[in-house]
Amino acid sequence: MTSEPPAEVIAEQRELEAARARVEDLRAQIRHHDHRYYTLSQPEIGDTQYDLLFRELRDLEARFPDLVTPDSPTQRVSGEATVEFTGVQHREPMLSLNNVFNAEELTAWYARAVRRIERENLRFVCEPKIDGLAISLVYENGRFVQGATRGDGLRGEDITANLRTLRSIPLVLNAPPASLPRAFEVRGEVYMSKAEFARLNGERRIAGEQLYMNPRNTAAGSLRQLDPKITASRRLDLFVYQLGWVEGDRPVDSHSAAMSWLGGLGLPTNPLTQTFAGIDAVARFCEGWVEQRDALEYGIDGVVIKIDDYNAQRELGVVGREPRWAVAWKFPAEQAVTRLRQIEVSVGRTGVLTPFAALEPVFVGGANVSMATLHNLDHIHELDIRAGDDVIVQRAGDVIPQVVAPVLSRREGREADLVPFAMPSTCPVCGGEVRRNENEAAYYCTNRRCPAQLSRGVEHFASRGAMDIEGFGEKMAFQLVDTLRPDSTHHYIETLSDIYALPALRDELLTIPRIGEKKLDALFANIESSKQQPLSRLLVAITMRHVGTETARALARHFGTMTALREAALEDLQAVNDIGPIVAESVYDFMRDPENAALIDRLVIAGVRMDEDTTALGGPLEGLSIVVTGSLDRWSRNEVEELITRLGGKVSGAVSKKTSFVVAGEGGGSKREKAETLGVVLLDEAAFLERLRADGWADTPA
Ligand SMILES: [Zn+2]
Repeated sequence: MTSEPPAEVIAEQRELEAARARVEDLRAQIRHHDHRYYTLSQPEIGDTQYDLLFRELRDLEARFPDLVTPDSPTQRVSGEATVEFTGVQHREPMLSLNNVFNAEELTAWYARAVRRIERENLRFVCEPKIDGLAISLVYENGRFVQGATRGDGLRGEDITANLRTLRSIPLVLNAPPASLPRAFEVRGEVYMSKAEFARLNGERRIAGEQLYMNPRNTAAGSLRQLDPKITASRRLDLFVYQLGWVEGDRPVDSHSAAMSWLGGLGLPTNPLTQTFAGIDAVARFCEGWVEQRDALEYGIDGVVIKIDDYNAQRELGVVGREPRWAVAWKFPAEQAVTRLRQIEVSVGRTGVLTPFAALEPVFVGGANVSMATLHNLDHIHELDIRAGDDVIVQRAGDVIPQVVAPVLSRREGREADLVPFAMPSTCPVCGGEVRRNENEAAYYCTNRRCPAQLSRGVEHFASRGAMDIEGFGEKMAFQLVDTLRPDSTHHYIETLSDIYALPALRDELLTIPRIGEKKLDALFANIESSKQQPLSRLLVAITMRHVGTETARALARHFGTMTALREAALEDLQAVNDIGPIVAESVYDFMRDPENAALIDRLVIAGVRMDEDTTALGGPLEGLSIVVTGSLDRWSRNEVEELITRLGGKVSGAVSKKTSFVVAGEGGGSKREKAETLGVVLLDEAAFLERLRADGWADTPA
């Protein structure tokens, strides 16, 4: 006789089975939408709907940890930060391409190929040559198992955890594993779009950080981050361009068939790829792109031309490390050589000193260039760029012109005159002491009264993404920072809050040259209305290191008021979604600095608004900080957080003494314990509902 398992066990198993089915369904849906969005750029649903699917999956996986698999969409950012990358031997070398620069050279390449294999009816596949980083992806049984950089072509670095964070890389291919070769490799190019590059640099500009030089280097740096979370925070894209090695038989017999096959499996292939039957058509295609390249969303530096047929490829083979069956048509470089007159140093609003190049004007990339970035001190030292050198200057699209390298051969006979660059030991503007912080590349002017820093700070405070005071540009900022008040040792602006004192000084200001009555009154009106900017704008305006627009919004949403933010403990800051330990510490330190505290106090007195619209309604939970833990029956995590926010409360991620109460559902161990230890009120779901109803909340659908 067999004994039946107890009813609870059966119920549990049923629940698990139902969850398993739902989890698989959700994953399939999310993969489908990822593919539509990230690979095809044709989303079928909105972000909110997508987020709901994602949340539901994450909640289910949290409740049933046994159901978590490494290929779940929730596990894209799952790797821990590593100390170094491990090496990967490429099973087949990643070759480099021979270059041609014009139709004549292309035709010569074609003639050599035809002679060697004695065939004329060749077809060519042409694809834009993305200015990114070549990578290798290995799939086994339909699952992404390893990703590596190209390295020297023979040996690269294992960056699997970072590549997993790219949404355009399917973790599971769109085909039954039995229909696929057991294992195979795909090669592709990872790149950063121009828009993402601009977004990142915009954030960095606002946060007062050094700007990135170009999308390619930024993509490379993002991929080689030891912490996959950083890679995930930047949107990198990918095009695959080749089927690599295949275990067993190749499923296709040409490159174009391979690309269709890979596209069908869900891998992103470049839609601009075209196939041609004659070499003249290929040349016309390549020439056409020289003009059109700037219109693309990503940088390209040429066109890759491949002979389509695999048999022909095999016959042609490889010479050295270059295949005979492919060639790169490279666009003419947008570079020029000119004399570097001087390395000058500018002072930013956080005091950072940035060297830049003052050049003999030169025409490059369609514009006259007389100033160029030298990136940073390491760049200058590594390449040994010296004032007086002839240097290669590059300008591509919207990117700031940059000094690529000195032409060392042109130093001959002048060596004695050219001295290596050294950062000045005092600020070029105020003469203040210059120091380099430990573990940081940057040098700072340490003088907090430095007029260069202050006028840049004022300009930033008034800028559109901050307090938005129209009419307060660079010139006005510098003039007011630089001008002494009559009969006084003080300047009109010596700290940011002095901006709000300006309207009271109307008569005095009118005595300054080039400041007219009309302009001044318009400025005063704009200064007055800037007081109504929400907290998130103010947080951008006062220049906290590492705090850009998005971080400022997250802080303002989370804390609601400046007072709450100023009082926040380090762990409260760390508990905010999307805020990492470095940012948390930076904000914490900022708020505890006496000068910053005094500045905020003066802004309060000036009548500047110090809160954020966290709720349109106000409501029964106004002013309460609430932590939700475990799973609830009535709401998903997303829903209950939205509800709390809508009713005026704040959702916090961590329990502290300031937590008003904890809503605890099923599970939720550690937060429940912490609440008990700290004596914070715990409400179960029923009690929470009761409380809401007592406050007049009605359970009607929104
Ligand atoms: Zn200075």
